[in-house]
Amino acid sequence: MRAQRDHELAVDALRRSYAAVPPGHPVRLAKRTSNLFRPRSATGTPELDVSGLGGVLSVDPVARTADVQGMCTYEDLVDATLPHGLMPLVVPQLRTITLGGAVTGLGIESTSFRNGLPHESVLELDVLTGAGEVVTAGPDGPHADLFAAFPNSLGSLGYATRLRIELQPVGRAVALRNVRFTRLTELTDAIADVVAKGEWEGRPVDAMDGVVFSPGESYLVLGSFTDEPERLSDYTGQDIYYRSLRRRVRDTLSGHDYLWRWDTDWFWCSAAFGVQHPVVRRLWPARWRRSDVYHRLVRLEHRHQVAARVDRWRGRPARERVVQDVEIPLDGTAEFLRWFDREVGMTPVWLCPLRLREPAGPGSARAWPLYPLHPGRTYVNIGFWGSVPIAAGAADGDVNRSIERAVSELGGHKSLYSDAYYDRAAFDRLYGGETWRAVKDRYDPDHRLTGLYEKAVARR
Ligand SMILES: Cc1cc2nc3c(=O)[nH]c(=O)nc-3n(C[C@H](O)[C@H](O)[C@H](O)COP(=O)(O)OP(=O)(O)OC[C@H]3O[C@@H](n4cnc5c(N)ncnc54)[C@H](O)[C@@H]3O)c2cc1C
Repeated sequence: MRAQRDHELAVDALRRSYAAVPPGHPVRLAKRTSNLFRPRSATGTPELDVSGLGGVLSVDPVARTADVQGMCTYEDLVDATLPHGLMPLVVPQLRTITLGGAVTGLGIESTSFRNGLPHESVLELDVLTGAGEVVTAGPDGPHADLFAAFPNSLGSLGYATRLRIELQPVGRAVALRNVRFTRLTELTDAIADVVAKGEWEGRPVDAMDGVVFSPGESYLVLGSFTDEPERLSDYTGQDIYYRSLRRRVRDTLSGHDYLWRWDTDWFWCSAAFGVQHPVVRRLWPARWRRSDVYHRLVRLEHRHQVAARVDRWRGRPARERVVQDVEIPLDGTAEFLRWFDREVGMTPVWLCPLRLREPAGPGSARAWPLYPLHPGRTYVNIGFWGSVPIAAGAADGDVNRSIERAVSELGGHKSLYSDAYYDRAAFDRLYGGETWRAVKDRYDPDHRLTGLYEKAVARR
């Protein structure tokens, strides 16, 4: 645990480094890891010192809350809460996602069908605003506008330095049922059923996500927390988790391994580096089977374009990066998946049902202006991460643009961690532009921090 005094010194260091950025120059975090996907131009300006803001300040097992620094990774956060039999209400799958990053950039995971998104279990947060002040924002009080607009602001309003979050009990293990469907409508009916009843075939469901391998072969993974584990599987070695869904009807993982089940192979994306080949896998050090290692390799490729050059040399078409997570209302999910299979054709695809959290029962959900999901409506997050060949006569970005159109037509939303192509008017309409501007003017009156549109679409 980090001492309160060290935290105060770290916040002072952050403020000083912010003051040292010359006006008019872009402001960036000096952070070791990132889960942003869009490439950004280098700035050459000194970055913000967040070196002392990566820890957990305290865990209160009785109140079931934790005080956590803004740049604490979920890996470190979970290491501090699991010994108490507790976990954050939503733990994004990638180990190096930070609490501040998930709250400002919207994380999601298999508990989201019940617990919503990470910001919905934040009780209060300290923010270094664009004006250089540290304010404490909560759902009520003088900074309630900042609290409401912070989720999906991507650091354009300020940086979270400390967050108080709720925790929930987790079993020592998670028992999984991998339920196969041959029709997409049966899969979406099953999601509706689990959401309505909180159980499947008589057993409570604490976590739910899924994978589509093709419209005729999809799986829901239904997890139940348990303290009486059967034999535990291990997917950190030679076995690969996503493949197990097709082989096994039931499975059990330790609570810890369940939370990081997707990190080891970055869902299935480690295949791009050969890590799923049995020989390479045996030689690839276990400590490198992590999403941040793969992410670093992707960044190297962005910089040096080795694969793109080899493709050109072999006469292969250039490729468009299609790395997105989109939220589609449940009743349009089967239609979107069929359209995606036909028009884009990337597999597998990750599914994660979500609803805004209803902390005091049905009807108690609140809406969040910069990512306006409807209270009481079930959505499915659909994640796809790869690339497609650019067809003759098409331009780079066309496939992403057609996805943006399909998502909007179905009443969905798109996360902003990757490429986006909206014009400003559409962006403002979809992402609460008016609210964002009012809060920006109040907390960053000189607009020193890069704007949301400039970050998300203009890649600044
Ligand atoms: C391939 C891929 C798959 C993904 N899959 C998932 C997934 O399955 N589940 C999931 O939950 N999420 C997923 N994400 C999204 C991820 O949760 C978000 O991108 C999140 O913002 C990353 O957090 P980070 O801590 O790595 O932030 P960074 O990548 O470092 O930063 C993201 C943005 O947030 C800002 N920021 C960072 N920290 C703070 C802070 N303390 N206060 C204010 N602003 C801050 C930065 O300025 C930046 O604009 C995925 C992303 C990628 C690239």
